[in-house]
Amino acid sequence: MDPADKASLIEEKLPLLYRQVQICRLCPRRCEANRPAGEKGYCGAGRDMVVYTAFLHHGEEPGISGEQGSGAIFFSGCNLRCVYCQNYRFSHSLEGTKVSPDDLARVMVRLQERGAENINLVTPTHFLPWVMDGLARALRQGLALPIVYNTSGYETVETVKVLGDAVDVYLADMRYVTPSLAERYSQAADYPEVNQRALRLMYEQKSALCQGVMVKEGLVVRLLVLPGGADETVRALTWISQNTPGALVSLMFQYQPYFRAGLYPEMDRTVSEDEYERVMEAVDELDIEGWVQDLTPEENLAGVHFRPSLEGWL
Ligand code: SF4
Repeated sequence: MDPADKASLIEEKLPLLYRQVQICRLCPRRCEANRPAGEKGYCGAGRDMVVYTAFLHHGEEPGISGEQGSGAIFFSGCNLRCVYCQNYRFSHSLEGTKVSPDDLARVMVRLQERGAENINLVTPTHFLPWVMDGLARALRQGLALPIVYNTSGYETVETVKVLGDAVDVYLADMRYVTPSLAERYSQAADYPEVNQRALRLMYEQKSALCQGVMVKEGLVVRLLVLPGGADETVRALTWISQNTPGALVSLMFQYQPYFRAGLYPEMDRTVSEDEYERVMEAVDELDIEGWVQDLTPEENLAGVHFRPSLEGWL
């Protein structure tokens, strides 16, 4: 779509989006915080958009990072409470830099100027109106890169509908298919139901389009294999093959017991070789396409040691 047309479609939705955060229902928590009045929601977000860091990310999937790196923008705060969160420093707090939509547009345009393959919005949902506002401004200033929406997959149908016109690639997690696990490790028993509804809609919206190795449009489902979670991952792969068969899959084995995982004895280890083999057998049987990490990938693949800085981007 022409960037100006995309900007117009986004701008039409902005008044409604900003109204929605007065009784916030942007995400499935629907905690109804009055954000413009300064109330903070379950996600920790209030009236200001906060970005932890931005950089050219070479550790995403090959189809997202490409040669030049993905223009990743990491937002602070999150609507999930995963006990093993590797980004807990900024996802479970609002540490970072307060930015306006104009600032965000500037960061996006600079990432493009420095050669980014795409703009990769990481966990942006709780700032959706501000993010869309910034994106529309960047599009007016010449941003022409694919937009990647990098999400935990805990999204409402209403939000995914809003994103349809603005986003090119969904890079969405499928963390659990079993409610009791979603509750135990992320305080979100409804995650499987909510996530599957969202993934179906993302899949309907975006047909898969790749140029060479690069994903230009479509749905990439990310599965982080948890210790003891091989069967859960196989169930997730089976669901994908039956419900979103053209989606690319990114299988991640980089789990480390970060944050509070040590409080859960069964989570206090990495994934075993047997578990790896079990998942890989299912990948072969189900004819899944995408990317698979090695059992012992580089530790910082998905960015555990980022610095909180927007220096040079604003
Ligand atoms: S985005 Fe944050 S404030 Fe809004 S409903 Fe979700 S948790 Fe609550």
